Amino acid sequence: MQSLFVQADSLRQEHVGDQVHLRGLIEISNNCRRNCLYCGIRTENRNVERYRLSKEEILGAAQKAVDFQYGSVVLQAGEDGGIETDWMTDIIREIKKLGLAITLSLGERDDRDFQIWRKAGADRYLLRFETSNPKLFAAIHPPLPNREPVDRIAMLHRLRSFGYEIGSGVMIGIPGQTFLDLAQDIALFQTIPLDMIGCGPYLPHPQTPLGQVATFSQAELREKYGLPEISPEDQVPATAEMAFKVIALARITCPKANIPCTTAVATIDAKEGRKLGLQRGANVVMPNLTPIKYRKLYEIYPNKAAIYLTAEQTHESVLQSLREIGRIPGQGRGDSAAMLERRQNSF
Ligand code: SAH
Repeated sequence: MQSLFVQADSLRQEHVGDQVHLRGLIEISNNCRRNCLYCGIRTENRNVERYRLSKEEILGAAQKAVDFQYGSVVLQAGEDGGIETDWMTDIIREIKKLGLAITLSLGERDDRDFQIWRKAGADRYLLRFETSNPKLFAAIHPPLPNREPVDRIAMLHRLRSFGYEIGSGVMIGIPGQTFLDLAQDIALFQTIPLDMIGCGPYLPHPQTPLGQVATFSQAELREKYGLPEISPEDQVPATAEMAFKVIALARITCPKANIPCTTAVATIDAKEGRKLGLQRGANVVMPNLTPIKYRKLYEIYPNKAAIYLTAEQTHESVLQSLREIGRIPGQGRGDSAAMLERRQNSF
């Protein structure tokens, strides 16, 4: 493991350098029409108080990104049908006036929305395929009622053809996920190929079907939700160690990709997770800029890191982590070196 981590860190140094790009994360809505078995804001969780930020709140958070000299913001949400095309287009245009790069992470939308938002100035789209095992994916991420399942990998290819930098990734340790599944996930990062790779441990949320394995037995989960049947020794553990291993392997297989050390990693190892991820292949951090009163409502999993810290406090703590490991905040937009290289090769 140690030599794997050392190799990943040296490839990170060689291909993307010592800069750590900071992306301001703005969780713009926790409304969601989906019913993912793992996610705390799934539509059937009636305990969630729902919110959608106003345009002013989103622009206020984006202004903080400018103040802190972040090169970009990530606008993330549940799959919220109430996020209307024109409303989002207007917000994208306003944020572009601030000079920031924009990543959208709004779930599955129509191609038309993707194209309109790209034209309005959105630069990147983040859509995890969650697992490359189609049976496991269909079970944990059921299609909308009366709709065909969506192929997220095909969607990523279309997003690229519309001109987006594309980001994806998986959860590590989903119940029913085998080591072979995970190895295939990592191989897929390289074949797609991805510009950004965000992975984190699966963290159980008690108000979700997967989080209730204590009350639902494994057999019931299989029967009720169609989870694949695997033998216990094949199950990937949802540990910090496994997450670091995936980050390191992602760096080794995709040396030029932007790889964040995700909030889930910083949550499972609250003390060292962020720094260790950055020392084992990651080169991006996404400090949370969501106004503090909404923070705890975007509870995709419990005990999310930095939930009670203001944007200023989070920013300070990220800078402190960077100082401790001898790294520097990124300058500029932090475009993907993988994307730039592909562009160069095509000329
Ligand atoms: N609605 C958007 C954004 C989802 S939240 C979409 O579906 O793309 C961003 C990511 O959080 C998800 O893609 C998933 O990988 C992760 N996530 C959700 N619930 C989680 C949990 N319980 N544990 C760990 N990660 C989780």
